[in-house]
Amino acid sequence: MRTAEIRRRFLAHFAAAGHTVVPSAPLPAIDDPNLLFVPAGMVPFVPYFAGALAAPYPRAVSVQKCIRTPDIEEVGKTSRHGTFFQMNGNFSFGDYFKSGAIALAWELVTKPVADGGFGIDPEKIWATVYLDDDESIALWQQVAGLPAERIVRRGKADNFWSMGIPGPCGPCSEIYVDRGPAYGPEGGPAVDEDRYMEIWNLVFMQYSRGPGVSKEDYPILGELPAKNIDTGMGLERMAALMQGVDNLYEIDEVRPVLARAAELTGKVYGAHSGHVASQSHPDDVRLRVIADHVRTALMLIGDGVTPGNEGRGYVLRRIMRRAIRSMRLLGWDGPALPHLLPVSRDAMSPSYPELASDFARISQYAYAEEEAFLATLRSGTTILDQAITATKATGSATLSGAQAFILHDTYGFPIDLTLEIAAEAGLTVDSDGFRTLMAQQRTRAKADAAARRSGHADVSRYRTVLDDGGPVEFTGYAEVSRSSRLRALLDEHGGPLVEAGEGTAVELVLDHTPFYAEGGGQQADQGTIALGDAVVEIRDVQQPVPGLIVHRGRVVSGLARVGREALASIDVDRRKAVSRAHTATHLVHQTMRNFLGESATQAGSLNAPGRLRFDFNTPSAVPPSVLRDVEQQVNEVLISDLEVHAFVTTQDEARRIGAMALFGEKYGEQVRVVEVGDYARELCGGTHAARSAQLGLVKILSESSIGAGVRRVDALVGLDAFAYLAREHVLVSRLAELFRVPNEQVADRVEATVAALRDAERELEKLRAQLVLGNVDAFARAARDLTGVAYAAVEAPEGTSANDVRTLAQEVRGRLPGTPAVVAVVSRTGGKAALVVAVNQAGRERGLSAADLVKGALSGRGGGNAELAQGGGLPAGQAPGLLAAVERLISGT
Ligand code: ATP
Ligand code: MG
Repeated sequence: MRTAEIRRRFLAHFAAAGHTVVPSAPLPAIDDPNLLFVPAGMVPFVPYFAGALAAPYPRAVSVQKCIRTPDIEEVGKTSRHGTFFQMNGNFSFGDYFKSGAIALAWELVTKPVADGGFGIDPEKIWATVYLDDDESIALWQQVAGLPAERIVRRGKADNFWSMGIPGPCGPCSEIYVDRGPAYGPEGGPAVDEDRYMEIWNLVFMQYSRGPGVSKEDYPILGELPAKNIDTGMGLERMAALMQGVDNLYEIDEVRPVLARAAELTGKVYGAHSGHVASQSHPDDVRLRVIADHVRTALMLIGDGVTPGNEGRGYVLRRIMRRAIRSMRLLGWDGPALPHLLPVSRDAMSPSYPELASDFARISQYAYAEEEAFLATLRSGTTILDQAITATKATGSATLSGAQAFILHDTYGFPIDLTLEIAAEAGLTVDSDGFRTLMAQQRTRAKADAAARRSGHADVSRYRTVLDDGGPVEFTGYAEVSRSSRLRALLDEHGGPLVEAGEGTAVELVLDHTPFYAEGGGQQADQGTIALGDAVVEIRDVQQPVPGLIVHRGRVVSGLARVGREALASIDVDRRKAVSRAHTATHLVHQTMRNFLGESATQAGSLNAPGRLRFDFNTPSAVPPSVLRDVEQQVNEVLISDLEVHAFVTTQDEARRIGAMALFGEKYGEQVRVVEVGDYARELCGGTHAARSAQLGLVKILSESSIGAGVRRVDALVGLDAFAYLAREHVLVSRLAELFRVPNEQVADRVEATVAALRDAERELEKLRAQLVLGNVDAFARAARDLTGVAYAAVEAPEGTSANDVRTLAQEVRGRLPGTPAVVAVVSRTGGKAALVVAVNQAGRERGLSAADLVKGALSGRGGGNAELAQGGGLPAGQAPGLLAAVERLISGT
């Protein structure tokens, strides 16, 4: 049974049982500062479990894309861990509980294939339950008829589930399938988790947990508002079972990449391995790593992650490098991804068609990253070779830990490669030294992370405010002022206050507010909140936790007190200017796509009063002609005076009408769409102008690169755009006046003037050289005799070029043949004196050397040979002294 079919059956089974089908959230976990990626199907539903939001449906089912970075090391070595995988899950929000979950799961797993189930033999099924969960043991016996000897009690580490961070949690019960003696020893899941493979975890989500790093050691804070169900069935694990293969790297969605990698490297997969993953030949493990990581990279870039040095981008980079590195270890040296990524795309696009339509963009990032890493490997190898040679030269047989660390840390050169290449050269590496340095670096990184976490402690305070009063309603789409209740008054660190006097920095939470919190690239509103006779000036508005709008400002008069009636009024002019910029951003985005194609997607934006910044993905610079066309088209849209219209609809409908959505942005089932006439349609929570003509004018200022494949456009909107153009006009008029030409001829005139100036300079130089060289004979005639050596001492005219000075010295020397002769020329340029000395053949035979004379005169500085040498750097005033010094040196010889 194909993976896509398993997925379809899962959704159908639960849809038929009254579950709403919810699409997968993107892989990046946007809403939780503690998570990089979504690790489980329940993540998008956390607010419903926690009771922060009312669930829009009592039951849901999804197939969620997941990444588990902690499992990276397991890949290939167990049969059941992928970095990317898909989790089928059914969810109940205060609806059915344990018995419902067990019955629904049992039915699907054991129902015959012909009837839409998975037809797994009940005799092969085991279940685990949490230590004291007798209720579940009874249910497994009654509902499923499982015998007691195949129901195992396990402790907190295995059978109490949480996301690993504060949030909902609860005891769980897992379903295992016995794959038979070929996969390991008897005895159930406690003995061998590869033979007895966990396919499905049913979590009885009923508690809330606090912080703690280990799987067992964290406090249970209390009960959730309702008893919920959260389950996760590994789609790939199910596929491995249903397809009768040994592990999840051999299923239809993964195996083709593995096969292609084997073909490229000439390896025969499985030639030296049996069924048990942990006993596999290293080459087989590598092939699995490659297949897994290539797929993970595809899915991550597909969801808008790009390789980088931090956070999500760094995880992607590491995964890609491991895949590339594994190819190398299998003997493939060149670029591998162009051979592998399209294979993964073909395997995955039946379930994710956007991978095919977006492949140009995805592959561009992937291939560029591989090129860069291969270059790193090449330069790292060169540096390592030098280090090896240097180490050998000292007679040592050990490469220092510091060398290995620098290669790793600065050049991104992997340590295993250093070990391997050093070994080939007959050297060992000081691994202890390397590890010590790595440990030190990790300590530094941990300190950083701790600093970040303490910032998060504040968030829990905001969460309390949210829990106490529910989400704050934003009323600012329709109104600019609003009276409401002051729900919470906080100090600038989020601590509660009862009252605050004049001058105090405060944070305010109201029940309703017209203030827009910074988000979606749009800057926050500013304005005032009046509380009786007290006035608070608001400078910033943020949403530290989703749903909670916090106003930050300062009490400018009176005494602010909690519980008071509040009148919130935004700065309307500022709001309008920001809104114009936001609408302009949508128009620039759409127009860029019109000219550059669908792949020119938004990567970030800033909407400030009167100006915007728009970052987008595109491989190379946008030609100026295209920028001009974009600008023109945007302004044409302004003139058409299109109506800007916002409405809320379902995600499906929004997709159907082609609304642009941002990568990595998570949207709920209901989405807000903003459309500018029929021209641009985008998912957006921001505020906008009412009609496109209100923007007045959009002027693009610049286009530049801000990273690999990401470009930035800066533009002005409205009066700011006008003011800019007006200033430019004044400048051009002034130039026209200076050059006495009409405005449109300024550029030609400047060009002509610059050219004329350059010609004049060249002419001047020529004349100067003639002047200098025209006096050669006179300089030679002026040579004096110093004990049989003809000495010509010349002061070159101010500003003579270095080349001319050298030529002058040589020409004068040419006029002094036969007798030993020395020519010294000093010159002064830019306040510095320089000396050139030339000695003829006869002089050199007398033992005179130009280099010695220069060094003698300049106390060791300067360079050259016996014939011609030069030096300088002294203050110009010392030029005559240099000639005298040379004279003394000759006389002394
Ligand atoms: P294991 O102990 O085997 O690592 P787990 O206890 O970490 O599994 P859960 O957190 O309960 O797994 O996740 C629910 C389901 O998701 C599992 O039953 C399994 O089928 C699947 N799953 C978990 N991790 C992975 C992974 N790395 N690759 C593929 N499937 C996975
Ligand atoms: Mg696990």
